[in-house]
Amino acid sequence: MILGIECTAHTFGVGIVKKGKVLANIRDMYTTEKGGIIPVESAKHHRAVADSIYQQALDKANVKEKDIDAIALSNAPGLAPCLLSGLEFAKKKAKELGVPIVPVNHCIAHLEIGRSVGAKDPVLLYASGANTQIIAYAAGKYRVFGETLDVGIGNFIDKFARYVGLGFPGGPKIEQLAKNGKYLELPYSIKGMDVSFSGMQTKVQQLFDKGIKVEDLSYSIQETAFAMLVEAAERAMAHTGKKELVMGGGVGCNARFQEMCRIMCEERGAKFFCPSREFLVDNAGMIAYTGELMFNAGIKENPEKVDIKPRERTDDVSVTWR
Ligand code: AMP
Ligand code: MG
Repeated sequence: MILGIECTAHTFGVGIVKKGKVLANIRDMYTTEKGGIIPVESAKHHRAVADSIYQQALDKANVKEKDIDAIALSNAPGLAPCLLSGLEFAKKKAKELGVPIVPVNHCIAHLEIGRSVGAKDPVLLYASGANTQIIAYAAGKYRVFGETLDVGIGNFIDKFARYVGLGFPGGPKIEQLAKNGKYLELPYSIKGMDVSFSGMQTKVQQLFDKGIKVEDLSYSIQETAFAMLVEAAERAMAHTGKKELVMGGGVGCNARFQEMCRIMCEERGAKFFCPSREFLVDNAGMIAYTGELMFNAGIKENPEKVDIKPRERTDDVSVTWR
């Protein structure tokens, strides 16, 4: 039985997994009325909710602390203050329970949870707030085949939403507004398998200032930004010869984005896997799930030796558990 902790950014969560089955996946998110995430404030949030989320997860899974074999911790990558708050909590619990810690890379966990919905060797389209990457397994590592050259797609959408006065997180509101919008051409920026959003960011702000409707801008942002990512994902699938696509990250909750992925996969005879919303957003179920795969392969550390790795990249990790 593995207890996982998620703490990399705005979400603190505790998940419990046994034999690949997620028994609990409890989370609480730091939100703001104005502005984005303030890392130290988010870390304060994590410390404030940790004990209660932990207890709720044990209750939900109906398990006892003594049944836990290891604590999986998302120690990388992320905002240092947030990672530290999680590390502190994981160390405290690991010592109390006398169990090791399994350090889990958050981005890899988004990919691994795709296995729980049936993918075997997929390309991951990871579209979240801060991260936007196209990842797949090749020669011992999860490699980044394409990524954003500037901001993550979620941050880009959220920044636009804030600019037009919608608050954070803006993604779900933009999705609703897009339903009544029409298409305007926006800068479509893809270089090889990499994408960038800053040109589109400037353009949509200018168009908003000129009085273009938020509905039209929302619709056009979705059509343009998602098409860029679907194109890059398709190219990665063609390059690696993989026949499965998995969605990951909070932006993956968007129904239009999912539809575009599904159409692309159908057209090339591939399969599209989309975890449910609770496993798309930042969550500890995926950390526990990945932690169990790693633990079963013998990966575990003395809690004293574990540290945070705010800038660890997906391809820094040797994948020895496959
Ligand atoms: P994550 O960082 O993976 O937890 O995802 C958070 C990001 O997902 C934020 O930028 C949200 O605005 C974005 N998001 C959540 N739901 C949607 C949606 N329905 N459409 C677009 N973006 C979304
Ligand atoms: Mg994430």
